[in-house]
Amino acid sequence: MTAPTPLIAGNWKMNGSLAAMAEARAVAAGVSGGPARVAICPPATLIPAMSAALAGSAVLVGGQDCHFETSGAFTGDISAGMLAEAGARLVILGHSERRAGHGETDALVARKAVAALRAGLEPIVCVGETLEQRKAGDALSVVTAQVRGSLPRELERRAYSVAYEPVWAIGTGLTPTTPEIEEVHAAIRAVLVDLFGAGEGASTPILYGGSVKPTNAAEILHAAEVGGALVGGASLKADDFLGIVRGL
Ligand code: PEP
Repeated sequence: MTAPTPLIAGNWKMNGSLAAMAEARAVAAGVSGGPARVAICPPATLIPAMSAALAGSAVLVGGQDCHFETSGAFTGDISAGMLAEAGARLVILGHSERRAGHGETDALVARKAVAALRAGLEPIVCVGETLEQRKAGDALSVVTAQVRGSLPRELERRAYSVAYEPVWAIGTGLTPTTPEIEEVHAAIRAVLVDLFGAGEGASTPILYGGSVKPTNAAEILHAAEVGGALVGGASLKADDFLGIVRGL
């Protein structure tokens, strides 16, 4: 089994401005030779400036969404190729805020993943249950169904990651217990192995996301089958984000 290279990605969501490039530079200055790959996913308008600010550093830049088509009459949307041209190397897909706020389905996320691969972007495919689904005992069935539905066959032999983000943990300060995280990650791993085989299915990083902070990062990042983190709020400040990166 090839151990996945961990990935720690910051999701700035609809936050930041050109002035915040100083935070990105501070992250780059503080990331040196650790075990993880580190990425920041700012709003699309900031990708060119962030790519320039991080040029020559170890920190990658990513997008937060893309359309499944390469171009056309899709007002307000951005294609994967446009993100790549702007300097992105990765793209978050199927974040719960897009699933809930923009009606994104597993099938749509899978189409976006194909588009991302076509443009040379590395997808970070998000899944996660709501609090109601967890309380009903459905967390594992919901998440594994999302993984099966959101990962296209085209991901075979391509670089990507899956991010387990319980919806109720995002931006709330709440986190699942370590055994709860491990249980879901083990279930995701089993699906990856089923879909892509024992070797490849074992080498895809499974990130955890949802209220990761410098204070809980080390425990979460060292949990079984946790191959990194997708970080929202705590990625906006370089000191906090670096505190998480150093948790590995
Ligand atoms: C996210 O939105 O991907 C996320 C994990 O947010 P937060 O870290 O703020 O909970």
